[in-house]
Amino acid sequence: MTRGYNFGAGPATLPQAVMERAQAELLDWNGQGMSVMEISHRSEAFLTLLNQTEQDLRQLLAIPESYRVLFINGAARTQFSMIPMNFLAKEARADYLVTGTWSKMAYQEAGKLAYANLVADGKGLNYLGVPEVSTWKLSDEAAYFYYTPNETITGVAIERLPDIVKVPVIVDMTSCLLSQPIDVSRYGLIFAGFQKNIGPAGMTVVIMREELLTETPYPLPTMMDYRTYIESNSCYATPATFNCYMAGMMFQWLLSQGGLAAVERGNRRKAAKLYQYIDASDFYHCPVPSKDRSMMNVAFKLHDEALNTEFLTEAKAHQLLALKGHRSVGGMRASIYNAMPESGVDALLAFMVHFAANR
Ligand SMILES: *Cc1c(COP(=O)(O)O)cnc(C)c1O
Repeated sequence: MTRGYNFGAGPATLPQAVMERAQAELLDWNGQGMSVMEISHRSEAFLTLLNQTEQDLRQLLAIPESYRVLFINGAARTQFSMIPMNFLAKEARADYLVTGTWSKMAYQEAGKLAYANLVADGKGLNYLGVPEVSTWKLSDEAAYFYYTPNETITGVAIERLPDIVKVPVIVDMTSCLLSQPIDVSRYGLIFAGFQKNIGPAGMTVVIMREELLTETPYPLPTMMDYRTYIESNSCYATPATFNCYMAGMMFQWLLSQGGLAAVERGNRRKAAKLYQYIDASDFYHCPVPSKDRSMMNVAFKLHDEALNTEFLTEAKAHQLLALKGHRSVGGMRASIYNAMPESGVDALLAFMVHFAANR
């Protein structure tokens, strides 16, 4: 069996070096005589690991001291509820920019608990682009502004939030955190599920400015309250220990690549190669306009959609895996997160050229 190039959107490919180290250490981690999966989350060895993991993430993103880093078990979308629960005091409202599946779900979830204002909705564009900023309708007094800078399903990205937003910004960076340097101080809260760019599915990292927390109109369930995670250093309940370990290795791997500026250069090169070829081709096309394209999830279509199945079958035979687009968009999607080596993109391009030439 050989390991192919996995272009899946998530759970996504992890660096081979990280997987190999996990394999080598699986039965006896760190001289403990047991697996990292089997060790107490209260043990010194594990707490050291968790602390180092946080420190490495702080270094990668240059996270200011005034921000807390929380590791919360569960899906990224748990945050869709935790955010309004924790930040919307009585009669408060929040602004939601809807540009695709994930921001729409977050908007609907917030609407169950409080008043969520729809700033703009990409529906008219079939969520294949970002609504013009001139059409955005911001509230006068929103508690926060929420958006999703990388809509994973359609491959639509917002490279830079316009300066018109004056309230704390909350972002779902599940599919783009760590793909490039960011200025953390521009955000009130950043969250990312692990399974795209960080590690195995089942945990979410939250980076938040603590002062944002307000008095909530009702007592929160303990596990839905950010204070629980702040006060216990993410160890109130048992954290997903193996995920923390994998994330820690991922962060060290990113540091060894030269940090996020170097990582971004590689990511830009990978994405540019694909988009340039697709744009120049009369066999393939990209449904997203250039200004709104994602660097992480490259959506593309064959002009002759009748060839889709053949394309996917042949790609698989070339060890190019999980290229099928999301069912809501159709076509293809190549997710090229940090862990996708440039050689994977080169192999995909060579295959696309070959496939087009033989029709
Ligand atoms: C994948 C994804 C999610 C959902 O993640 P779950 O852990 O399945 O809830 C949310 N937001 C974005 C941007 C995603 O890419």
